[in-house]
Amino acid sequence: SIATAQPAQEERLVVAVRVRPSMEAAERCIEVVSGGSLLYDDGGKSRPRQYSYDHVFRENDTQEQVYKTTTAPLVRDVLNGLNAAVFAYGATGSGKTHTMLGPVPRKKPQTAPDRPPATASCEATDVSSLDIGLMVRAIEDIFSHIESAEADTCRVSISYLEIYNELIRDLLNPGGPLELREDHRGQRITVAGLSEITTASRKEVVSLLMKGNKARTMEPTAANQTSSRSHALLSITVQARTPLGTKQGRLFLTDLAGSERAKKTKNRGKRLQEGAHINRSLLALGNCINALSGGARYVNYRDSKLTRLLKEALSGRCKTVMIAHVAPESKHRDETKNTLVYADRAN
Ligand code: ADP
Ligand code: MG
Repeated sequence: SIATAQPAQEERLVVAVRVRPSMEAAERCIEVVSGGSLLYDDGGKSRPRQYSYDHVFRENDTQEQVYKTTTAPLVRDVLNGLNAAVFAYGATGSGKTHTMLGPVPRKKPQTAPDRPPATASCEATDVSSLDIGLMVRAIEDIFSHIESAEADTCRVSISYLEIYNELIRDLLNPGGPLELREDHRGQRITVAGLSEITTASRKEVVSLLMKGNKARTMEPTAANQTSSRSHALLSITVQARTPLGTKQGRLFLTDLAGSERAKKTKNRGKRLQEGAHINRSLLALGNCINALSGGARYVNYRDSKLTRLLKEALSGRCKTVMIAHVAPESKHRDETKNTLVYADRAN
């Protein structure tokens, strides 16, 4: 039996935009005007337009600020037996992986344009604790809450998978594609054979995530040689035994595939198809979130593996946070606009 938990009286959907630091002294298309709004400049075609969200993070806002504002409230829910999800959305290079994981060593660029999918090979590095991303912060936060409560009755486990071309791969134990299983009522969806690792230490978690991230499928594209064409989904499950039974909460943290449009990357053949899959699942996710924010009674989760997998975190009383990432340089103006509009639609 599941102990009932009362969700806090907060919004079910929170939409944030994070502006990454500019990489060069270049013309900008974004100006943050407050903690909840920004101005977008389309290059002089029309007057700068203001967009408002629940939160807007500036270039020098810290990982800790982003964690405290977006994810910490969800951790409290998960400890109370609810599910929740955080998504990092945005074009390649906009800062999604930085937010979720922290700085990740770049792999060597691949030169041949049509090499088969490769996994990144790079040395593990020590990430300064200031730069640590949401995934590790969430796990540490969960551990610290549990330590101050009853450690012997709680179990924390993680799984980490990628969805690439609508195929699911285990990032903690890379191998062939895994199948989605659904119970007869279509209520509970699991991934058959996915490893679920019970962990106790921060060090172990960091190294598991870094290793898992290196196992993500990378594709060289014209837009960015290390562009990530896959969604990476970390799930953290907290099980607690209580006098009333067992309660289980799950937090999903997703580093989504780059949202850039296929035409921009001059994709052909196989890669164009990837683009189609990516856009389909991002579109399906946008539709689900949009329906949730509009309070729709019926939400279609069936359009992509991503939304099917996340159903348990998007439905019912679960809370969802969308962190949309944008680059401030004018040369990324079109992708930035697309991301602002996607996030605005979810808002
Ligand atoms: P994405 O995962 O969206 O493709 P990355 O997270 O890899 O983008 O970010 C692209 C580059 O910008 C990386 O070198 C990353 O370290 C840097 N970067 C992104 N966001 C920030 C930030 N908030 N602070 C400092 N560096 C950042
Ligand atoms: Mg990335």
